[in-house]
Amino acid sequence: MAFWKPGTIAPGSAVDRDTENETDTAVVAHAEQQYRHLTLKQQRERLPVFKLRRELLYSVETYQTTIVIGQTGSGKTTQIPQYLEEAGWAGKGKQIACTQPRRIAATSVSQRVADEKNVKLGAEVGYLIRFDDQTSSKTRIKYMTDGMLFRETMIDPLLTNYDVIMIDEAHERSLYTDILLGVLKKIQRKRPDLHVIISSATLDAETFYKFFNHNQTKDQTKDTANIISLEGRMYPVDTLYVDEPVADYVETSIQTVFDIHMQEPRGDILIFLTGRDEIDRVVSEIYDRSKTLPKNSLHIDPLPLYAGLTLQDQLRVFEPTPRDTRKVIVSTNIAEASVTLEGIVYVIDCGFVKIRAYNPKTGMEALVVTPISKASALQRAGRAGRVRAGKSFRLYTENTYNTLKDTSIPEIQRTNLAPVILQLKALGIDNVLRFDFLTAPPAALMIRSLELLYSLKALDDVGRLTIPLGMQLAEFPVDPMLGKILLSSGDFHCSQEIVTIAAMVSVQNIFIQPSKKMDKMALLDIRRQFWVEEGDHLSLLNVYNGFVQNGKSSGKWCHDRLLNFKALARAIRIRQQLVKYLKRFDVPLVSAMDGTRLDQDLQRATASERIRKCLVSGYFSQAARAEPDGSGRFRTIRDGVLLNVHPDSVLFNRNPTCVIFHEVVETNKPYMRDLTTIDETWLAELAPHFYQYQTTEKK
Ligand code: ADP
Ligand code: MG
Repeated sequence: MAFWKPGTIAPGSAVDRDTENETDTAVVAHAEQQYRHLTLKQQRERLPVFKLRRELLYSVETYQTTIVIGQTGSGKTTQIPQYLEEAGWAGKGKQIACTQPRRIAATSVSQRVADEKNVKLGAEVGYLIRFDDQTSSKTRIKYMTDGMLFRETMIDPLLTNYDVIMIDEAHERSLYTDILLGVLKKIQRKRPDLHVIISSATLDAETFYKFFNHNQTKDQTKDTANIISLEGRMYPVDTLYVDEPVADYVETSIQTVFDIHMQEPRGDILIFLTGRDEIDRVVSEIYDRSKTLPKNSLHIDPLPLYAGLTLQDQLRVFEPTPRDTRKVIVSTNIAEASVTLEGIVYVIDCGFVKIRAYNPKTGMEALVVTPISKASALQRAGRAGRVRAGKSFRLYTENTYNTLKDTSIPEIQRTNLAPVILQLKALGIDNVLRFDFLTAPPAALMIRSLELLYSLKALDDVGRLTIPLGMQLAEFPVDPMLGKILLSSGDFHCSQEIVTIAAMVSVQNIFIQPSKKMDKMALLDIRRQFWVEEGDHLSLLNVYNGFVQNGKSSGKWCHDRLLNFKALARAIRIRQQLVKYLKRFDVPLVSAMDGTRLDQDLQRATASERIRKCLVSGYFSQAARAEPDGSGRFRTIRDGVLLNVHPDSVLFNRNPTCVIFHEVVETNKPYMRDLTTIDETWLAELAPHFYQYQTTEKK
């Protein structure tokens, strides 16, 4: 093991792009560069999976389930569906599905496969993610998020559209991957013709094998599952630790980039950080600081990689690095296994990941930055060894590494299960506690989620799905709380506004991060044009309406207001889809601003009040009251959890007395994001069950 001290390398010694010695490593790097000029067909045949093509096809033919283990980059995701199709699967109107836990993987991989097959994306090869369907009647290979495939079981419980289903990235153990594994096992009993492939980047084949092998005898020839291991081509990776804990891993990661740039031979750098804010900051800092590099050194090209990027922006990271450039990809956990990046020789690992975690004691789900597992650290380091021997710089000490958990906790054991329970019940799986889980979720988590569904009136007293509300919530492709406000928006006479708000909270990255140089006051002036004192939801409504009225036709309007044109365009498309659902569920489309057809009570209420009450009808469980001590902190009304207002919120430093919030983000402190001020009496009025329960319990 080696150590290094970040930021100790004297600048001015940058690798010179013209005079670099043609060392062995550089030669290898050149050779790798040259592979890029191979035809796509030749590139395909160089992948480790290619040698096992026939064995794979034989296994899929022979066994109901095939488990494929192979390192990231061996060709599992892009090649296996193509082999199957070439061998005649997905004939007679059937399709091959390949699921991904992440949207960004589904979109970028399908584009790559369409290129390899020289077809247009959306024709023979397509993708399906929430609110975005790029498939057609021609589509035979369909990349999709695992959540979307699970959703399809509600319309087609036996998934009869598919003859092969590949559950990819199974090692990631995302919530919907785990649920799908249970559902597929059930479907296999009724559909012997359905073939399943489970693919994983780590060596956990046994778990899947035991789960899927229906053979009860000792006779292995009767096995219904088979394991195939792809041989991995991996170069050694040197791991370096910091010798004492770093104060700010974001800053240290930037320093480390320049340390590498000054003293290490060419080769791209991959940085793992936890989220978009950090990534945007690092990208812009690297960009600024790289201007001071000596003139004749390699250029540095920092590129972000996270889920909210558009497809075009994502694809930039896959483009070949020019000869005079060092690419620095600054990524979330996406790059750990979901996508393969060529040319990475150095990895910088901050040691943390942002995950969704649900606390059954408080009933709150939060995005929390937590330490990664050892398995994750290993996987991240491995990204450096794909083209030649590489280095992994860990921004934590070896002692810290030793305290990490061996593996990450599957999502199903740490997330809000309400949406899944709803969908399982809609599938007719009433006793969710007895569902065949690969790993069962803790009972407390289950109970709390059931309770939330009950208070939303999606379940009745005996835990059955209510008709029509529960059924409709299960069908709606949004979380049950948001679904509830959409379905009640007709009653509150503000569905036009609510559907806009719902679309806006479903899009990430509406606001563009200002550059560091931008004056704080100037920024506030720009943001303030949309602000209303009732909070973020109504301000988002303003942004959307402003965009639709003035900014739709060109990017300039958005640019001047630090708004993300593409994100807003996406909000428009999402809104259209949500409107379709509302029509299907007979929710009248009415605007709060239009005063006709109202009963007297509603007439008295202002438009804003109606919208906010409608929000309370779904988000009542996420309500918080200001602390009396004037600290600006809040306490959730039912469970007494202390929370802070997110600095990006309209209500930051505005001292409202009572709010509801859309989500909690936990970095150094827990923050509420997307807040709206409410009148506390509305809670008793709109969610008597939920708050009644608390008063009786306290006695
Ligand atoms: P695995 O699923 O086993 O991790 P993949 O099938 O994703 O492997 O990748 C196989 C090869 O395809 C890799 O060499 C990778 O670089 C290449 N590849 C995948 N996606 C893209 C893309 N969008 N652009 C260029 N190359 C890609
Ligand atoms: Mg893959």
